[in-house]
Amino acid sequence: MARSDDDRFLSSPGERAFRPMLRAGQRFARDAAQRPILIFEEVFKSYRSGKPVLRGVNLLIERGEFVFITGPSGAGKSTLLRLLYRSETVDDGRILFLGRDVARLTAESVPFLRRNLGVVFQDFKLVTAWTVFENVAIALEVLGLPTRLIRARVGEALERVGLAGRGDDTAGVLSGGEQQRVAVARAIGGEPALILADEPTGNLDPQLAIDILGLFEEINDAGTTVLFGTHDRSLLEVRPRRIIVLDDGKATDVPSGISSESGEFYDNELPL
Ligand code: ADP
Repeated sequence: MARSDDDRFLSSPGERAFRPMLRAGQRFARDAAQRPILIFEEVFKSYRSGKPVLRGVNLLIERGEFVFITGPSGAGKSTLLRLLYRSETVDDGRILFLGRDVARLTAESVPFLRRNLGVVFQDFKLVTAWTVFENVAIALEVLGLPTRLIRARVGEALERVGLAGRGDDTAGVLSGGEQQRVAVARAIGGEPALILADEPTGNLDPQLAIDILGLFEEINDAGTTVLFGTHDRSLLEVRPRRIIVLDDGKATDVPSGISSESGEFYDNELPL
């Protein structure tokens, strides 16, 4: 049912160009499903003012991984994530997300890239005067989904983040931890293949930070790949996880748990 509703919106050329990437794990060609979900290949980025931020970043993330991106403040964690959701563009290099070069997508295809990405920010970015439901629904409304499907997806997303029954509450009266849960619900509502989190616990006290980390872990356990940017060392120590350290414009892989094949990250012959 949901699939046929979605199919009605697969009409524009930009969306057709992106079609193999739609919906987590559902419509991928067999070869696409076996490829890494994300590859950064010699990515360079400078802002007009200041020294280069990324100076040849290489990384490879497999479908289903949970990966921390860490490094000192100003190291380029946000920049790396912004390049991925095309809020910024690379100066050089390639970013292959599900086999497509994000850096070279046409403007027309960018919305369909974002359909496959959920993004969560440090400051939640909710409309505080809106209800919880409206804040989550907006992400699906911009995709043009029918109202019935939106209601179902929002209800499901709120349940997953522990906010079932809170849809009519005004977002602004919720606690910080609850607001971030709403933002997570908004990010997962479209069932993206990849969730990006940019310091999502930066505005929360330590216990809430661990709770929110746990929420991302649950989302990851359900199959969604998670890229979690943080400079909070205590979170990195909660349990062994693969960590990518950004420093001095380069990414260094610290396999501390789920990924033991880290050698290939620095293999120049990436499996494209
Ligand atoms: P992090 O997320 O690791 O703290 P950022 O990616 O936010 O790092 O920033 C990396 C560097 O790029 C910093 O020196 C920052 O000042 C600079 N920077 C970030 N965004 C911009 C921008 N829009 N214009 C100019 N410089 C920027």
